[in-house]
Amino acid sequence: MPVSVPTGLSPLDSILPDEPLLMMGAGPVPIPHRVAQANSIVINHLGDTMSQVIEQVKSMSRYVFQTESSRIMGVAGPGSAAMEMAVINLVCPGMKVLAICNGFFSDRLAEMAERVDAEVVCLKVPDGVTADPDEVREAIAKHRPAVITLVQGETSNTVLNRHLPEICRLARKHDCLVIVDAVCTLSTMPFEMDHWGVDAVITGGQKGLASIPGVSLVAFSERAWDHIRAREDRLRHWCLDAKLAHRFWNEKAYHYTAPVSGVLALHEALRLICRETLEVRFERHLRCSTALQSGIESMGLSLYTKPRDRLNSVVGINVPEGVESRRLLTHMSGVHRVEISGSFGLDIVRIGQMGEQSRSHHIFRTLHALGASLYALGVPVDIPAGVAALESTLDAYIFDGPG
Ligand SMILES: *Cc1c(COP(=O)(O)O)cnc(C)c1O
Repeated sequence: MPVSVPTGLSPLDSILPDEPLLMMGAGPVPIPHRVAQANSIVINHLGDTMSQVIEQVKSMSRYVFQTESSRIMGVAGPGSAAMEMAVINLVCPGMKVLAICNGFFSDRLAEMAERVDAEVVCLKVPDGVTADPDEVREAIAKHRPAVITLVQGETSNTVLNRHLPEICRLARKHDCLVIVDAVCTLSTMPFEMDHWGVDAVITGGQKGLASIPGVSLVAFSERAWDHIRAREDRLRHWCLDAKLAHRFWNEKAYHYTAPVSGVLALHEALRLICRETLEVRFERHLRCSTALQSGIESMGLSLYTKPRDRLNSVVGINVPEGVESRRLLTHMSGVHRVEISGSFGLDIVRIGQMGEQSRSHHIFRTLHALGASLYALGVPVDIPAGVAALESTLDAYIFDGPG
């Protein structure tokens, strides 16, 4: 036997921290107990139990996506696999694609379209601001794309594309399909697939939905499905071929072995959303994120994105001068057991407000951990002022509503 058994292996218990860290970064997010429990079960991927689960996952997803479409499919893979599934099934080689590029994740959609040999035009949106519908209108008139790709929320620089409904309307007027990445935003803020006329929506498990990473969802409109059905070329990707996946998700036939535990976890995450209702869930996210933002600012820190274009699902904080973000993150997780995220290239740290992260006990602990860690690193932040602002903003919502 040429390869010998590895020595010095540690059991998982001795690798994991004694107490789990509070996951307050840009994903993965903490999962509810019911989701964790469901994730520990394995069932037959083609049995009757699984069919009932799949039917419910689809009907709950229709509610969460706000669509009547029956073309909803799970994907064994990260949010990026769902992005790729939307792109490769709707974009044919040589097709003109307008990619609205706000940052890291919207750039990824553009790259995926390039990789299937589309002719991709990037509309570069300056960092920190929302895409301008007038510029999108001009770009559509000039380039006549067949497909537009964009994100609802750009997690990387904490920008919200708040003109998304208008951009979808423009696309529709020009008979152009729209692919929207709603990975971090879905179920944290309004999204209306049918009403806005979105043709493909993508979400991951580990962000807004508060499920596990690695099992994602994609929904296609009937218009998108007509396009997929009419395609005669053979896709290069077998796993991500929507026509093949459709057999499992709508016809109870085998495609590949579905990630059954992850689908069960997703079922529970969706069920908790349905039980809470979208209205209440949006309100909870808005209230917690607004209160957290106010606490951060009152402590003496500044936020990266201006209020108008600010994403509430992920809050970006400018790192104070003289502080190395990595040291801040290490201090927060090492001393306070709270994990938040750095960023890809910008001098910000990011706190997530997705799913279970938007709970008052979690945001108090996180704000305190942030303040105390900065204080320890020599930044004179006013922790009591921050905590007081957090408390009074939460209170204002309880007694007066969001105003
Ligand atoms: C996290 C994220 C993704 C990628 O999800 P993965 O599961 O890491 O592949 C895509 N888009 C947005 C907006 C995200 O926040």
